[in-house]
Amino acid sequence: VPVLEFRDVWFGYEPGRPVLRGVGFAVPARGQIALVGPSGAGKSTIFALAERFYEPDRGSVLLHGRNAAVTSYARHRAAVGLVEQDCPLLAGTLRENLLYGAGPVSAGELRRVLAMTGLTTMVAGLPDGLDTPVGDHGRRLSGGQRQRVAIARCLLSRPDLILLDEPTAHLDPDSELALAATLHEVSSVCALVVIAHRFSTVRSAGRVLVVDGGAVTADGGHDDLVRSS
Ligand code: ADP
Ligand code: ADP
Repeated sequence: VPVLEFRDVWFGYEPGRPVLRGVGFAVPARGQIALVGPSGAGKSTIFALAERFYEPDRGSVLLHGRNAAVTSYARHRAAVGLVEQDCPLLAGTLRENLLYGAGPVSAGELRRVLAMTGLTTMVAGLPDGLDTPVGDHGRRLSGGQRQRVAIARCLLSRPDLILLDEPTAHLDPDSELALAATLHEVSSVCALVVIAHRFSTVRSAGRVLVVDGGAVTADGGHDDLVRSS
């Protein structure tokens, strides 16, 4: 059973002006899917419906095979994590930022998540380790580090699916490559759907969904899509 499925989803912000026009796709429990397509195609709107900020006008969004409209909002939000583009952090310590919104987390689990998100070395290098303040909006950390903290925070809430909105948008090419490796690793424990503009992000995903004009116009392996385009 897919973690998340869109079935013939139609949605518009205003009556009579559909933005999504019959979107359909299924997200398996593991692996990474890149969502690509021109600006205004409907990618962010797909995320908004996947998060249940909106309900479809027609069609359905299913969570673990059940119509999302009949499962509780709280359960849906617990299953679907979001990593926003600019990864806002709180002006507290690194530990506070990581554990914000998570339930009880064991020391072992925290260690595993730090290792998976490539933060172990950074934490060891900080003067007070996890208890180091990150500064207003996390500005003592680099963009790539903030991105990793945001992904680690999300993982610590144990979602089944993480949506990432252009995670490499503000990263230099080296950080971008490193993040792609991290996402690959994370996708072995959790499903990832990534809005991607850059080719390197798209290439590291197993599967690419092309969104255009409010519909999925291609769905396949990266190499197949490149060959046919
Ligand atoms: P993408 O993420 O692919 O750039 P979006 O989902 O943001 O595309 O936008 C799809 C269409 O929906 C665009 O025409 C956009 O102007 C419109 N749109 C997005 N958000 C809103 C909103 N809150 N209210 C009205 N129209 C919106
Ligand atoms: P960049 O040069 O910034 O890495 P690309 O040339 O890779 O960007 O991509 C340009 C545009 O093509 C982007 O909007 C991206 O979403 C889209 N795109 C990238 N890969 C594919 C693909 N396999 N199929 C369709 N569109 C793609």
